[in-house]
Amino acid sequence: MTTIDPRLVFLARAAARLILVEVEEISPDDALSGMACPTCGASPCVNPSFCAACRKADGRRRERNVVPAIRPTPSRLLKKLGR
Ligand SMILES: [Zn+2]
Repeated sequence: MTTIDPRLVFLARAAARLILVEVEEISPDDALSGMACPTCGASPCVNPSFCAACRKADGRRRERNVVPAIRPTPSRLLKKLGR
């Protein structure tokens, strides 16, 4: 399953709302009213420093879960397999 970075979702929504403001489809207030914290979902965020710490921790976890590079098959295993 693909995980979508909630920060990128937030930024994409913000960019789309900026375009709507620029073409005068919505007011700046309307654009901001629907924006929520990408971590807790509150608008405005109830605890920005806590949510920032959570995002930072999530980022570290994502870095640890990076799929390791493909390693060559050990030669002793290849010998056992007759290759
Ligand atoms: Zn928040």
